[in-house]
Amino acid sequence: MTRVDVVVVGQGLAGTTLAWQLRRRGRSVLVLEREAGPSASRVAAGLVTPVTGKRLARSWRWDELFPAAVAFYQAVEAETDAAFFHRRPALRLFADPAERDAFGRRAGALGDLVRPAADIPPAFAAPHGGFGMDAARLDVPRYLAASRDHFRRHAAYLAADVAPSSDIALTPDGVRLPRLGVEAGGLVFCRGFATGADPWFGGVRFHAAKGEVLTVCVPGLSEGRVVHRGVWLAPAGGDLFRCGATYTWDPLDAEPTAAGRAEIEDRLRAFLRLPFEVVGHDAAVRPVVDAGFPVLGRHPDCPQLAYFNGLGSKGAMLAPFFADQLAAALTGEGGVEPAVDVRRHLANPRPPG
Ligand SMILES: Cc1cc2nc3c(=O)[nH]c(=O)nc-3n(C[C@H](O)[C@H](O)[C@H](O)COP(=O)(O)OP(=O)(O)OC[C@H]3O[C@@H](n4cnc5c(N)ncnc54)[C@H](O)[C@@H]3O)c2cc1C
Repeated sequence: MTRVDVVVVGQGLAGTTLAWQLRRRGRSVLVLEREAGPSASRVAAGLVTPVTGKRLARSWRWDELFPAAVAFYQAVEAETDAAFFHRRPALRLFADPAERDAFGRRAGALGDLVRPAADIPPAFAAPHGGFGMDAARLDVPRYLAASRDHFRRHAAYLAADVAPSSDIALTPDGVRLPRLGVEAGGLVFCRGFATGADPWFGGVRFHAAKGEVLTVCVPGLSEGRVVHRGVWLAPAGGDLFRCGATYTWDPLDAEPTAAGRAEIEDRLRAFLRLPFEVVGHDAAVRPVVDAGFPVLGRHPDCPQLAYFNGLGSKGAMLAPFFADQLAAALTGEGGVEPAVDVRRHLANPRPPG
């Protein structure tokens, strides 16, 4: 039997970041990842944006979460000798005069997060102007790959599809996974929007949202910023850009659809004056539990089991701060805030079926 302090099930943004935060607190970790099937992290654009939505709202707890994310990703970059976190300005174009006027009223409250956009290139139709902001972008696939390589080198990673109901046995001082020859002091489920039985956390009720993203080739477009107007257009190297994303709620699967593609193309045509060609199309389900809030913490009856999920559409920014909060709770060095505690959700479980 291999013995570790904590087993982490799932190597998406949640599991990867939690594994790092536990290791930084001196714990031995084994990450188990099935390496197949749908995953939001493999599709995510990794945008970290301070002002979002039609209402031009300041992103939730930006002043706390953003510095935590910057410090965390830069530390992991240094440790893995990889570059995946990029601080770059973003450009938001106003969709109509009402949005421009709303910005005029909100600009004071947004403070130095925003500034007038002086340099909107002719490739973009922007009759109402726009504004600039300091944003960032996590290259999620590269972050996951660099972390996986690092964990592998430290015997902290194993490819395995864990069946919660049959693979996990609780013991007085932790858990055992006999099929995998592993025992641990605790186990954390970081499975994202995973279907299939989970005897302990299956009662958490998702309000998940499917999202589709296109990869487009735009010859002649030279733009290093992420540009937002109804959709976002994010540089992906050379003439390639990623563009998205849709929000749909039925069906919750990872199948790209013609309707999703048409919606993104229409929104892109509304502001991009150059011709483009679609060269890729992906879809995944965002693990939304409680709009905007992650969900984490120990199981109320089985304290050797814990949960980290609900990163929703802002996983890149939320993960470092809340993974550290959970790591602190698991090591007895801190606690989980009531607002994000999984026990709140298990007290009001999903109805059967
Ligand atoms: C279209 C789209 C665009 C997005 N854009 C952004 C963005 O710009 N910025 C941003 O911050 N967020 C974005 N997101 C949200 C982001 O993708 C999620 O918040 C984040 O990826 C969730 O990570 P996770 O680890 O919880 O889940 P996942 O990424 O789904 O990871 C779960 C992992 O667990 C593994 N797993 C599941 N069950 C098992 C098992 N039984 N055994 C072993 N392994 C298992 C899966 O294989 C998977 O690797 C976007 C999402 C979508 C769908």
